[in-house]
Amino acid sequence: MTATKTSPRYIRARWVLPVDSAPIEDGCLVLEGDRIAAVMPAAQCKGASFIDFGNAVITPGFFNLHTHLDYSALRHFDTQSQFFVWIDKLISLSWQWEPAQWRRSALHGARELALTGTTFVADASYSGAAAYGIAEAGIRGVVGLELFGVVEAKAEAAWQLWLDKYEKFMDSADDTLNNAITEGRVKITVAPHTPYTVCPALIGKANQWARANHLPVLIHIAESDMECQWIAKSFPPLDNFLSKATGESVETVAALDWRGHGRTPVEHLVHHGLLDSNILAAHTVKLTGRDIELLSQSGVGTAHCPRSNSRLRNGIAPFSKLKAAGVNVGFGTDSAASTDDLDVLAEARFAWNLHRAVDPDFACGPEEALYHLTLGAARAVGVADELGSLTDGKFADFCVFSLEFLPDLAQTRPHESLLYGGAVPTDVFVGGGPVVVDRKLSTVRG
Ligand SMILES: [Zn+2]
Repeated sequence: MTATKTSPRYIRARWVLPVDSAPIEDGCLVLEGDRIAAVMPAAQCKGASFIDFGNAVITPGFFNLHTHLDYSALRHFDTQSQFFVWIDKLISLSWQWEPAQWRRSALHGARELALTGTTFVADASYSGAAAYGIAEAGIRGVVGLELFGVVEAKAEAAWQLWLDKYEKFMDSADDTLNNAITEGRVKITVAPHTPYTVCPALIGKANQWARANHLPVLIHIAESDMECQWIAKSFPPLDNFLSKATGESVETVAALDWRGHGRTPVEHLVHHGLLDSNILAAHTVKLTGRDIELLSQSGVGTAHCPRSNSRLRNGIAPFSKLKAAGVNVGFGTDSAASTDDLDVLAEARFAWNLHRAVDPDFACGPEEALYHLTLGAARAVGVADELGSLTDGKFADFCVFSLEFLPDLAQTRPHESLLYGGAVPTDVFVGGGPVVVDRKLSTVRG
């Protein structure tokens, strides 16, 4: 968004939750152009003319660190199958779509993100349509164009193909997407799909390119037992899926020699020098204690997606252990095809209920959930200097949640009211501009 020199705007609400400093009751955000100029008690804004949201909570905009907006049209297409049956059906249903179908699907998902308070999304996109959806919905995001290729000898050719796809994608961007890219609101990067669908040499090229372009790398790591078995030893049913996803024969896939060395997916990446600090890893469910140490040492950020992991029967990621090890963690909903909806606050609510159900020692409160929805996630994807908290100088991305219909006691407990339900997002701002107004998408952009 282009910063415009205007007089300051004073946004007031019963609660302002900056995340990196203490909650302010009867707080005020002072905006200048697209940035936050100050955060303070409203009483200190002498003579200001307020935009007053009244009995409401203001939070930083939320981060959804793992989606595939491309697949939004496939919501609930199969809620029963096991992971690789499900993913096989997903590919069969979608990969022959026309560009307009991808675009419609992605826009549907991006609108849902904005309406539920996500102002920054990290999306892995097969078609690239997600970038259009994000640009049009008026939110921010980094979109990784997916990369596949399992044969080391073909890594250079596969990389050149990806670069061509990237160049064509950038050249064909329409005005809405071009403007969003120019403003820095949308960034296009590379998403090597997983350590089993992309050979080490190809992940290395992706890492190198992303680092040179100051972009994160989006990848899935250790999502399922099947992945771990295939990387460590072999898992023949996965060979068929890999053949379909990469176009190589089943025999070629079965003969790949870069797997089968007894390593976990994380160890495999470390062994090949690929666990780069600008990686954002989705899922990280199947981790050993050693894997957690390695993730921590590498500085990799992770996206915790418990509802998708639950629906696809992949288990529960060791959130508390990752957190204790100092790994930056945010939440991701994954695609609408493998979860209930794209509401990342609902993801956090599910996570907290889930971890308390299975771990009597789970000690994180609602304040920490808000941290992982905002600043913690911004740190995981490397944008915390500009986003993730209500702090002087950062972009004015924030959400307003009404407390109006809650009982008096709940209104005095804004973190609990947010996380455990009842508070409703009414307004969402990105760069100081309204994206959602009174629960409807604004037509300001796109
Ligand atoms: Zn995914």
